[in-house]
Amino acid sequence: MPPDDSDPLIARLNAEYAPLHTRRALRRALGDPALGRIALVSSFGAQSVVLLHLISIIDRTLPVLFIDTEMLFRETYEYQKRLARTLGLTGIRHLKAPSRNIRAGDPATDLHLRDPDACCELRKVRPLQRGLHGFDCWITGRRRDQGRSRAGLELFGRDSVGRIKFNPLAHWSAADVNAHINRHNLPRHPLSARGFQSLGCAPCTVAGHGRAGRWPDRAKEECGIHVVDGRIRRGPAPDAPVIVRDTGFVPDDPVPDARVLELPGDTDPATLPRDPAGWQMIRITFPAFHDGRGFSLARALRDSGFDGRLRAAGPLLAAQYPLLRRCGFDEVEIPAAHAARQPEYLWQGAARWREHDYQARLGAGPRQLNALYNPDIPTNGTSG
Ligand code: SF4
Repeated sequence: MPPDDSDPLIARLNAEYAPLHTRRALRRALGDPALGRIALVSSFGAQSVVLLHLISIIDRTLPVLFIDTEMLFRETYEYQKRLARTLGLTGIRHLKAPSRNIRAGDPATDLHLRDPDACCELRKVRPLQRGLHGFDCWITGRRRDQGRSRAGLELFGRDSVGRIKFNPLAHWSAADVNAHINRHNLPRHPLSARGFQSLGCAPCTVAGHGRAGRWPDRAKEECGIHVVDGRIRRGPAPDAPVIVRDTGFVPDDPVPDARVLELPGDTDPATLPRDPAGWQMIRITFPAFHDGRGFSLARALRDSGFDGRLRAAGPLLAAQYPLLRRCGFDEVEIPAAHAARQPEYLWQGAARWREHDYQARLGAGPRQLNALYNPDIPTNGTSG
């Protein structure tokens, strides 16, 4: 993968960390303010022990996110417990899909046969998205030699929502991994001895083919939690827009058959539908972050009694989030490429907007806010 000149931070990190030995790079990363809050994501598979071992030398309390699809080999669960004990890891968190989601999405536990993309989305992608909430960077064990989709892997990149991904083993080979395990006499996954070189979920893994042993009868290489060079094979599209709410970046949750009204930001408030309450969601598009007409429109809609979901869509800035919320928006939809420049931690900072909502503390209602932010709009609407 060529250096990403469009992302100066990633380009700088790749240049700065390239000369470092893996252990030094990890030690530096855990204290690097540019990376923020870090977690390691591990499958506790056949080769996971290398990274877990290196982390245990530096910080045994580091959060380790273990995606438990509830479809893993029994031996993987045993191995996870053994490694936690042997390496003294105290920060392991099990990420699972909520049981109500499993009951609704895979009641017969056969989704992996019918639609493996949907199965990984349900059991891996969404639990990981939730588990990564609050982290700015995640460490992965991906390597360049693990298949075509990883051939151009760099030390640093970004995930589909702009969070930094650190791949400290990117340049390691399978032989390097083996040598490290032998040199440090680390426990091996019990199924390694039976020919499994890459271990995922039991129904989707066969022995003897390296990573190609995952989904061996299907044309896919990734489970959807990794986007590599724009070539995601499953899960959310790499260019899918990002939804921002008070909790940070969240998956979109469109209501099936919802009545959604699309309004350009330059819509004249005087032409708004007479009964906006009939719509479940109104999506107002902002052509540019400095175009403020969408704010006025939102305020006018709230003043006219609309209490459904109100979304601002466009290349908006995290710094605008407090004003968007005060004007009545519930959420913001930003393009994926824009999210890389306005990463989640910026929005999370802005999401504490209520702490600075001086107007609300002074008792200002919608009409006063309307007068404050949109002096051109009549203030004879209902308050809410
Ligand atoms: S690897 Fe197979 S069983 Fe596991 S989540 Fe994906 S499709 Fe489902």
